[in-house]
Amino acid sequence: MSPAPLSVSELPLLTPDAALFLDFDGTLADLAPRPDAVRVPPSLIHTLQRLQQALHGAVAVVSGRPLEQLDELLRPLRLPSAGVHGVERRSADGYVQRLAAPALDRVIEAAQALCARLPGLLVERKHGAVALHYRQAPELRPYCEAALRAALEDAPGLTLLHGKMVYEVKPAVANKGHAIQAFLREPPFRGRRALFAGDDVTDEDGFAAVQSEGGTAIKVGDGPSCARWRLGDPQALREWLAQCAHALDAAPVNGNRPAAAPGEAAAGTSREAGPEAARAVRAAALPGGA
Ligand SMILES: [Mg+2]
Repeated sequence: MSPAPLSVSELPLLTPDAALFLDFDGTLADLAPRPDAVRVPPSLIHTLQRLQQALHGAVAVVSGRPLEQLDELLRPLRLPSAGVHGVERRSADGYVQRLAAPALDRVIEAAQALCARLPGLLVERKHGAVALHYRQAPELRPYCEAALRAALEDAPGLTLLHGKMVYEVKPAVANKGHAIQAFLREPPFRGRRALFAGDDVTDEDGFAAVQSEGGTAIKVGDGPSCARWRLGDPQALREWLAQCAHALDAAPVNGNRPAAAPGEAAAGTSREAGPEAARAVRAAALPGGA
């Protein structure tokens, strides 16, 4: 299913009982020619801080990047995060879990050999995974795939992931859906309504996980997806997040009280807190929530 993109104003706002999960590259931040060239708008940090407060800490990043890169990019924020597609995960209490990963020596060797032979490729080593980027030489995609598939023969427990201009080898047991489900078993995420936004095929497991629990999935940008909602690009997502932060700040303080049930108290809230809060309450009545 590939829904058409919504405008920012059409997408229902977050409700106060939301648990927010966000991919990073291509979702929060615009893609760049190299992973180290990605820039984060200062206003995004401010928005995420406001959302973290308004949602009682239930905001997490779920990315293919390692945790230390996410922390550096989002400094001074240090959010609960899943890195390397869930191979590593830091809970809200700061505890970091890392999955034991099968040996990657053959894969690293193959990726580095190809990189040495064909200019324009970039090998990125992570805890438990290896990424081979070909964004600067898209014509080399088939060589990347062939080399990594060959290296993966007789490598049980590892799997090949094809993202935007990148192939990645990672443990088969790790995916973004499992990472989100693990967060949802812990405070402050437990009992909240999950929303996950992502842009790539690597996010599909996360979309399926939140939708299977009655939550909301937002695909950012083009491409087929199981997500029921879509926004056009990272800028649209950032605008929507800023609107959500504003509306949640304006909403009456109610602690962890769940959002109003469909129809319940919507009129009263709209009179008290303005049209944006009314849009937030309406969201609770929409299929899949918001
Ligand atoms: Mg992404």
